[in-house]
Amino acid sequence: VLDGKVAIVTGSTSGIGLGIARAFASAGASVVINGFGKPEEINATLEGLQDETRSKAIYSAADMTKPAEIAGMVNLALESFGRLDILVNNAGIQHVSPIDQFPVEKWDAVLAINLSSAFHTTRLALPAMRRQGGGRIINIASAHALVASPFKAAYVAAKHGIVGLTKVVALETAEENITCNAICPGYVFTPLVEAQIEGQAKSHGIPREQVIRDVLLAQQPNKRFATVEEIGAFATFLASDAAASITGAALPVDGGWTAH
Ligand code: NAD
Repeated sequence: VLDGKVAIVTGSTSGIGLGIARAFASAGASVVINGFGKPEEINATLEGLQDETRSKAIYSAADMTKPAEIAGMVNLALESFGRLDILVNNAGIQHVSPIDQFPVEKWDAVLAINLSSAFHTTRLALPAMRRQGGGRIINIASAHALVASPFKAAYVAAKHGIVGLTKVVALETAEENITCNAICPGYVFTPLVEAQIEGQAKSHGIPREQVIRDVLLAQQPNKRFATVEEIGAFATFLASDAAASITGAALPVDGGWTAH
């Protein structure tokens, strides 16, 4: 359903971003992969993607805290593929700490990567989408864009913020065949979650299994992690022509978390 389309997926060297890039490539899109990682692992990811899907994949090392590098990533997509149809703002980090002890530099980094980077990619991608007569912007928010949890001040603030940005972009582009939506996952099994399991097990002094059941999935009524394949399939639908009327929405994929 994405034949001939060109996509940028930020933070796609692992986890949800890689799942989305893989789904897009399988649907026929050329993709720009972005994020940190060892060069040999990134090369293996690019080769794997191209072998599995026959779609083209290139890499941008742009750091999402640096507006000039973000501009370089958007230019790379346009220079390499001549167009840009789909932008997925997925790069994100977490930091867990009580607010009165929250390190200031962590607050700044979470806001820069999880929120401001999407402002920069969006403002830089829109002119190309407008020239082409359409486009899709998908922001990977979180259930924490809709409800809060303690000790995640920066993350919850940034994720609520990206829903606001999503709505503004949707309104500004509503008549231009461009849509902008936020996907709000509950817990998806990725390296980011893996790191939280370790951290919480230490801070609560309880085993991993108990962290998974009683801490992480305490709020998730279906008691299972979503998969990156599920998020990839949903993003592919939002990027397709069939989703033309869905815009400005914050769409939960959270096993019922935000239903209570
Ligand atoms: P992950 O840690 O597996 O992947 C994060 C990606 O972002 C990596 O590719 C990393 O290299 C990249 N990244 C980090 N800092 C960057 C920077 N400064 N510049 C460029 N790239 C950078 O995490 P994930 O779980 O796949 O999370 C992806 C997104 O999904 C995040 O926005 C996260 O908040 C959101 N999310 C995750 C879950 C979950 O349960 N995993 C739930 C809800 C929302």
